[in-house]
Amino acid sequence: MSEVERTPIPCPFTYAKGHRCPGIIYRAVGYGPKRGRNFAAREDVRKYRLWCSEKDDHAGAVPTISGKLRMEFYPDQLAPDVEDKLWDYGIANG
Ligand SMILES: [Zn+2]
Repeated sequence: MSEVERTPIPCPFTYAKGHRCPGIIYRAVGYGPKRGRNFAAREDVRKYRLWCSEKDDHAGAVPTISGKLRMEFYPDQLAPDVEDKLWDYGIANG
């Protein structure tokens, strides 16, 4: 897939007032068993943590559990094509 064919992955974060974050996802880490490698393979990922161009991980200045969880998603919580794009674009565990 070439650069021009890439459609950006919109940040899935929604603010309390209901508007979506305008950021673009630029980094993702998939958590799961690493089986001796540095990162989990796609089929082993149980949860993703995302970073966006506007607010990074949306965790806020003061570390809290709820802040940490704001940008963590189970694979089935992501929009249908998002997980494919994370891996196709080399964003996930890159
Ligand atoms: Zn965002």
